[in-house]
Amino acid sequence: ATLREARIQKTKTVCTYCGVGCSFDIWTKGRKILKVEPQMEAPVNQISTCVKGKFGWDWVNNPERILQPMIRRGDAFEPVTWDEALDTIARRLNEIRQQYGDDSIALISSSKTTNEENYLMQKLARAVLHTNNIDNCSRYCQAPATEAMRRTMGYGGDSGSITDIAKAELVIIVGANTAESHPVLSTRIRRAHKKFGQKLIVADLRKNDLAQRADVHLHPRPGTDLIWLSAVTKHLIDTGRYDKAFVAQRVNGFDEYVKSLAPFTLEYAEKMTGIPREQLERTADMIAAAGSVAICWAMGVTQHKGGTDTSTAICNLLLVTGNIGRPGTGAYPLRGHNNVQGAGDFGCAPAMLPGYERVDDPQVRAKWERAWGVSLPVNPGLDNHQMVDAIHEGKVRAMYLVGEDMAIVDSNANYVQAAFEKLDFFVVQDVFFSKTAQFADVILPAAPSLEKEGTFTNTERRIQRLYRVLDPLGESKPDWEIIQLVANRLGANWNYTSPKEIFEEACGITELMKGATYERLEGYRSLQWPVLPDGTDSPLLYTDGFPLPGGKARLVPVTWTPPVTTPEEFDLHLNNGRLLEHFHEGNLTYRVPGIRQKVPSTFVEVSPELARERGIEDGMLVRLVSPYGAVKMRAVVTDRVSGKELYVPMNSPKDEEAVNLLTSSEADTATHTPAYKEMNVRLEVLDFK
Ligand code: SF4
Repeated sequence: ATLREARIQKTKTVCTYCGVGCSFDIWTKGRKILKVEPQMEAPVNQISTCVKGKFGWDWVNNPERILQPMIRRGDAFEPVTWDEALDTIARRLNEIRQQYGDDSIALISSSKTTNEENYLMQKLARAVLHTNNIDNCSRYCQAPATEAMRRTMGYGGDSGSITDIAKAELVIIVGANTAESHPVLSTRIRRAHKKFGQKLIVADLRKNDLAQRADVHLHPRPGTDLIWLSAVTKHLIDTGRYDKAFVAQRVNGFDEYVKSLAPFTLEYAEKMTGIPREQLERTADMIAAAGSVAICWAMGVTQHKGGTDTSTAICNLLLVTGNIGRPGTGAYPLRGHNNVQGAGDFGCAPAMLPGYERVDDPQVRAKWERAWGVSLPVNPGLDNHQMVDAIHEGKVRAMYLVGEDMAIVDSNANYVQAAFEKLDFFVVQDVFFSKTAQFADVILPAAPSLEKEGTFTNTERRIQRLYRVLDPLGESKPDWEIIQLVANRLGANWNYTSPKEIFEEACGITELMKGATYERLEGYRSLQWPVLPDGTDSPLLYTDGFPLPGGKARLVPVTWTPPVTTPEEFDLHLNNGRLLEHFHEGNLTYRVPGIRQKVPSTFVEVSPELARERGIEDGMLVRLVSPYGAVKMRAVVTDRVSGKELYVPMNSPKDEEAVNLLTSSEADTATHTPAYKEMNVRLEVLDFK
């Protein structure tokens, strides 16, 4: 009663900043956020949060929010009514479809929006616009890991839970800056390492926080992880230290896989990766000695031309050593955005309907056609990498993009921006006026996570509910409401009155989530898919079989793809990634004064030896030049990087400093995830001004 009298509200939400999926209560008075209060009953974080979850919310009241629909008039945008914006969208999309066909339209959904909103976005694409041209930003990060797990184990999700990572006797982290990208998860690992004797191996170019604490820090040459992973696996097999019973009973393809490992000797691995042989042997010894091994990985693995194969090499290593399906074991690609997992789970991918049901399977298609009462497109859809090429080729003429600053987060940003210039019609739906919005014809004001209900799915397949903390500001609306308005203007007859109805429809049709309901997710309750019809969920996968032929996992032979080469003048390797304080491209957290004060701008990390050689001092202005573009920023001299390796955070308050002005259009061959991590640059020293 006291709380009510004071008009203070306490509302549960789920953090929007990373795939760990922390949940907490937010205390508000009017639109003022008083505090973030984590609860013991929060399944992932209990009473922990990181700086972003605790303090990173002031931007919801930022005056720069887009508060009403806008239409381009010449070079400017004019505020219009919702009706006028929707009429324009329907008229232009219909004209373009009529003239160029269904597949001339492409849709991009958002890993920041809810499961319900992602479900509606792919339903809009398939059931209303009759195209499979739908994707989301998991293409930019973890699509290779999803594909690797699907091909080796069956499910495209982490094989266990965050608690399993904490329980493992040995944790191996490959190409992930966990302390900054997944802070609360990293705290668990640090505690297990310090207090409970957990062993830790970190393979990363940078001496990041966990690499400094690790028992072994492997520093491979850029793009060579597949080689050392395969060599360690081969060494374990050659020395008889693999799980023979597990392989015999639960795995297919062992003999062929062993043959494929022939080139990966320790000598070859030492020569190619630069990792000393003793470290490779020690890694193998630690794996053999551990009763349980969990491997975490992120974009240092996936954002390469061979990202899917390197992710597969990790899965192979876990299968050969029997480290799947038991507590404390497993494969953990760490999802970046809060709802990367959910966007894929709910069908925002060109080849997959919700629940990873394939669009090219006639039986699957027939099921969804019955459920939705429409015929579905059979043409294969384009992923977001292919969409950019298709726009340049004049095949895609219109785009509807939700919550994604693709103009600077996709690789080779200049090429992407040139594509957006060519679109006949472009709808952008977002919270702030992004770089991408500059290219739009119509801008729709979206409400952020604090202003809506729905569910997010975190990195461990955990579905959690978020409740409305604040009312939508101005004329902004939750994305699901906007998508429904667009669909109905295009002739659909959707009547969803709440995210609950959308969720029930989606889970009712999707085999993977049959038993998931809002009631079973009430408050801080959560479910990890697959969820059986009786509501039983699956914290640990593969305890008694794999959803593959014969119930067995598959060892998949892999080959090494050398990284992208550039002319000799580009003599420095450019790595990029996250910062603890900022989220993704930075458009939210740079609008939080306290956080911006702490880290006000982007920078490039330069090693002490390179600084000495080139006369670079801390704080100097430098220009980085690649074959694709150039950016200016300040240098930070630090031994976190070494030799000729540089590091630039992916977030920047200024669009002209975006690291993707430097990256190329090269991509993982299996999934088209951009090879963001394969870039060489030239560094020009300017001065202190
Ligand atoms: Fe949010 Fe991730 Fe931080 Fe948790 S660890 S509070 S989910 S950013």
